[in-house]
Amino acid sequence: MKIFKTGFTSWENRHEIFKEDIADMYMLGNETALGALDSYNDTTKGIQKLIEEAINNNTTLRALGAGWSWTKIATAGKGIMLDTKPLNAVFTISSRSVAPEYTGDTSKLVFAQCGNGIWELSEFLRNRNLSLKTSGASNGQTIAGAIGTGAHGSAFDVGGVQDFVVGLHIIVGPNRHVWLERKSYPVVSPFLLNSLQTELIQDDDLFNAALVSFGCFGIIHGVMVETEDLFLLESCMERMPIDDTLYKLMETLDFTGSALPYKDERPFHFAVFINPYDMDKGAYVTSMYKRPYTDAYTKPVRNAEGIGPGDDAPCFIGKITQAIPALVPTLVNKLLGGTLTPFSKQFGTLAETFSNTTLHGKLLSAAIGVPLHVVNRVTELLLEINKDAGPFSGLFAYRYVKKSKAMLAFTRFDPTCVIELDATFSDATYDFYKAVWKRLEEENIPFTFHWGKINELNFDRLQKMHGPSLDTWIAARNQLLDKDCLKVFTNPVMVEWGLDKVL
Ligand SMILES: Cc1cc2nc3c(=O)[nH]c(=O)nc-3n(C[C@H](O)[C@H](O)[C@H](O)COP(=O)(O)OP(=O)(O)OC[C@H]3O[C@@H](n4cnc5c(N)ncnc54)[C@H](O)[C@@H]3O)c2cc1C
Repeated sequence: MKIFKTGFTSWENRHEIFKEDIADMYMLGNETALGALDSYNDTTKGIQKLIEEAINNNTTLRALGAGWSWTKIATAGKGIMLDTKPLNAVFTISSRSVAPEYTGDTSKLVFAQCGNGIWELSEFLRNRNLSLKTSGASNGQTIAGAIGTGAHGSAFDVGGVQDFVVGLHIIVGPNRHVWLERKSYPVVSPFLLNSLQTELIQDDDLFNAALVSFGCFGIIHGVMVETEDLFLLESCMERMPIDDTLYKLMETLDFTGSALPYKDERPFHFAVFINPYDMDKGAYVTSMYKRPYTDAYTKPVRNAEGIGPGDDAPCFIGKITQAIPALVPTLVNKLLGGTLTPFSKQFGTLAETFSNTTLHGKLLSAAIGVPLHVVNRVTELLLEINKDAGPFSGLFAYRYVKKSKAMLAFTRFDPTCVIELDATFSDATYDFYKAVWKRLEEENIPFTFHWGKINELNFDRLQKMHGPSLDTWIAARNQLLDKDCLKVFTNPVMVEWGLDKVL
């Protein structure tokens, strides 16, 4: 494995909202002189060596994906961060690598090394007439980074990125790396295990715990994903009155007789933006419908402001600058008036629809998961809080995600409405967030926090949010990692959240 020690002693996340002191940042790369499999195995050994050195030097290690998270989950405290982006090999899977009991479609299985960008993996798949099942709105994350926090879009019958993962190759120590999959859903054959020189663990709880584990379970070197045939999305966005009809839809996802372009047809994706300063003109409602792939389509076009059909608020909110409170409504209206323009019949593959790989300005983003039946009450509260603790210089966004099997996925409600609060980077936004979390707790509204977005977590809150799953997750971590490695893969934010328990 190639290791380039950058000598960096501080690291700033991609959104430039915090800087951390670190011991070093290593860029990892596959050995190019070797064949693909030998090179992958050589990297496994290289990472094990780094873990051994970390134990000997009493330092910590953390895998870094694309650095897109707003929280400090990818940092190693004063330890070493490992930039995994160049680890981007991808393998198609033949039937001899697959267990006879596997019930899925072998031709749709792909094994991807951790550093593959979502965009990069999508390109690989596109060349084979395949597609990921879902992604976030933007696609610059690495596959392991996206899985690590449970990144999601609004494919409410599909789930988040981690939900199409069926196998994890995890390096858990200097002398151990494992292939983890569900016992209830066997995937690989001894041939593949032998090729990767790894040990098989089939265990539903361990697998479900390791999926959304934000770097705490060691280094996820490769992931087996289930893909599907390439498909098109037909996207539309329109303004709809904010009335009982819309509220009902937002709280039920019952599309029977809806006012959406295809009425009763259940969309693949449904999302709503509410601008609290322009309620009279209605909400911005996006619906996307799955269509069979054909070459005869025009790729989605961006509007004059560069916003495409799949873009979410982080793609444009960064353009709002901090303003004195009285000017906030005007600024938000001005920004949205230009950037969110209704469209219809935009066709594109998943990757073409959710294609943003860049960041646009400094902003804050928080996302909470809530069950459907509280969505409208939360909206009422947000509007109330905006009067008392606002004005919030952003908008309220609603996306929907199927309940995940991942133990600590924040999409734990069946289904989950993800309410996103994207706004300017300012103390006022942090104050608004605090007021919202406090009010939700006072009203006993169940909610969870996205691990990669601004949150305010401690162990008590986590226990309320995730219940017994939290202890099972901690137990799973203790089962997979020995005491030395628990230390190597503990970072300050885990300690702050009480997830570092050694059993
Ligand atoms: C512009 C923008 C748009 C976004 N849109 C969405 C969205 O639509 N939906 C959504 O859910 N989120 C969204 N996010 C949040 C983002 O998807 C998540 O924070 C995601 O986890 C970031 O992926 P990353 O590759 O940058 O990982 P990082 O932020 O670098 O890391 C995330 C976690 O994964 C761990 N990790 C990374 N690689 C490995 C590995 N190989 N082994 C073990 N652990 C690893 C890290 O240690 C860290 O704990 C957005 C963020 C931005 C900046």
